[in-house]
Amino acid sequence: MNSYSSLFTHIDTENKDNNANYSNANNLADNYRVLIVDDEPAVLKSLVRCFRKENYHIETCNEPKKALEILKKNNFNLIISDFMMPEMNGADLLREVKKHYPQTIRIMLTGQADTQAVMTAIKEGAVYKFILKPWHDDDLRVTVALALEQYELQANNKNLTIENDKHRRDLSTLSKMATINRSQLLVALNKKGLLKNEQVQKILSLHMSSKLPPIKLLLKQGWINENAIRKLIKSQFYIEQVLLKEFNIDEAIASLIPGSFCRQQLLLPIKQMGKTVTLVMADPLDDGILESLRFSSGLDFDVVMANCSEIEEKLDDIFGESIVLNSLDSITSMCDPIDTIEIVIDEEDDIELSELLEGTSEPPAIRLANAIILEAIRLNASDIHIQPTSKCILIRYRIDGVLHDKIQAPLTLLMPLISRIKIMAELDITERRRPQDGRITVKSALKIVDLRLSTMPTINGEKIVMRLLDRNSSMVPLLELGFNQQQLEMLDFVNTKPQGIILTTGPTGSGKTTTLYSLLKNNATSEKNYITIEDPVEYYMDRAGQVMVKEKINLNFSTVLRAVLRQDPDTILLGEIRDAETATIAFQAALTGHVVYSTLHTNSALATIARLFDLGLRPLIVASALEAIIAQRLVRKLCQYCKHETKPEERVIKLLGHSFSDNLVHHYSAEGCEHCQGTGLKGRLGLYEVFVMNEEIRNAITNEQGFIEIEKIAKARGLVSLIDDAASKANQGLVSASEVLRVLGAQ
Ligand SMILES: [Zn+2]
Repeated sequence: MNSYSSLFTHIDTENKDNNANYSNANNLADNYRVLIVDDEPAVLKSLVRCFRKENYHIETCNEPKKALEILKKNNFNLIISDFMMPEMNGADLLREVKKHYPQTIRIMLTGQADTQAVMTAIKEGAVYKFILKPWHDDDLRVTVALALEQYELQANNKNLTIENDKHRRDLSTLSKMATINRSQLLVALNKKGLLKNEQVQKILSLHMSSKLPPIKLLLKQGWINENAIRKLIKSQFYIEQVLLKEFNIDEAIASLIPGSFCRQQLLLPIKQMGKTVTLVMADPLDDGILESLRFSSGLDFDVVMANCSEIEEKLDDIFGESIVLNSLDSITSMCDPIDTIEIVIDEEDDIELSELLEGTSEPPAIRLANAIILEAIRLNASDIHIQPTSKCILIRYRIDGVLHDKIQAPLTLLMPLISRIKIMAELDITERRRPQDGRITVKSALKIVDLRLSTMPTINGEKIVMRLLDRNSSMVPLLELGFNQQQLEMLDFVNTKPQGIILTTGPTGSGKTTTLYSLLKNNATSEKNYITIEDPVEYYMDRAGQVMVKEKINLNFSTVLRAVLRQDPDTILLGEIRDAETATIAFQAALTGHVVYSTLHTNSALATIARLFDLGLRPLIVASALEAIIAQRLVRKLCQYCKHETKPEERVIKLLGHSFSDNLVHHYSAEGCEHCQGTGLKGRLGLYEVFVMNEEIRNAITNEQGFIEIEKIAKARGLVSLIDDAASKANQGLVSASEVLRVLGAQ
């Protein structure tokens, strides 16, 4: 049926050989094969017992020589060998195994005394891991399980590479052949009366001599315009037309088919999902080409079409003048859509720190560091925790306020990884016992992100926490933050004041700065001078002068603020009031014709007033300078697609107290759908308590009437507390009671 078939048969056989080592990689998980070698029957027995709950196929053997015989007959995924054995020691056995069965993972059991010999074997790469006798069953089980997992990942990766290599080789053979056009396009146009018989003949003969696709020749003649052709194909053959400009095409996917062939035939692979490739063609009616591509690559093609000029433009974009074919490796790394990514290291990659840092290619620590940061950017994480445990390096991301375990990497990479990150942040890599902090700016394809990082020595090694600040993050309009109508009116009132201080309060990560920027932007005009003082800068504002605090060179909030006041500012955004000195200057500024926005770490609006007194401010100063306090928290919003009304959990309602339960008429929860990745949560929402000063409150503060009195006045004036706001948002189906409990705690 296909004249090209004979061309590819030799490649097929060759490929089968390549695959032999991994032939059972796909169903490994069902039954891993493990060989255990030890000369002591009692040890063998207890090793077998250790794995009795795992679904491994286990064989045992009491002599290294016999073990080699067994390996000759059967393929094993993993071998555990004792070190001290008569005739041949474990290191020599594993060396042999490495030589003949390099894919088999080799683990050695050893007593303390043999360290030297074991280290030599490890350096040679003959031993993947060694375990000291007497071993701990759990350690052994975990080590073996992790090793097997790695085996499978490596096997899959290699199979994928082999497969993609095969596709590429097959396709480049194909591209060298003159392809005979089998398109129905000319016939279809002829039938429709859009092309005359002579015209069809002319195009066919041009095609025979030039080998160019008929559609291109046709357009060159100018007999028909491309839109008419597209319209016909769409209506008669139901093939979708795409706007190629809107596609971001990965070079690796484009290179699935050789560039020269793409150019010649005016086609381009634009997407890959497993074995199915979306192919854009100028002439999607060319079954001949499609059939050959399918046959030679083993891939399936979904065909869409685009205008010739668009395809040519895109081809130029991707391939440029010369055609790059060797970036298929990136496909292997891309085929990892699963939630947790695993870092696979070859044993050859296990190199000394010094080598690692000098290496020119990308050693594993650099790849790992990049992967960790890129993944965090992709997942929109706000923080990255790199935490050594006793078993592995655990990489956790804070997403929408909650920590998730995402990546596990081998402990052997801890030192190189920490050092790599320290180098990126220009920290002292030799200092491992003291906490340090620094910054990194990372540029990904999508955005620039500032990372603020700190290190902390823990009992398992150094831990690093990084906070991500997206430079391009846009300020959120005030209306979208989740204030209710009444609160918005109050803020509008406050925002018109020509001087005074407005504070937002709440724990770290509660969105205080976001609210301040929204307020600032809400009434920003070109007639005023805006200055922000932050650590670090969280949003970028073109017109504002933005100053970053640098404690290390003694550029702290109070010194910067003093300097800023000499720069004729109208409005100042002060990142945080941390100490008495900063508080005093900020309040003085607010009393001398400036609007000051700032944040404080307190729990509620009223607690803020107490905190200001603690910072040494006199009641009169607070009463006259303060205009408003916004206490806030961030909650995870219910997915609006799958939420539905439910009864709240009684325990939760009880813990949230009366002011919540009394106001709760409706309660919603969500189980998850495709819009929220099955989590039932989508986006975040602020809970707010907006406290605005008035004459009565000013008098109460000046006269030091006590907080109960002040609270009474505020409540009488309609102060809505955080828990009240939460109840109202729960009623509207925006947040669940359990999420309110998580964030506000028992009341
Ligand atoms: Zn949902």
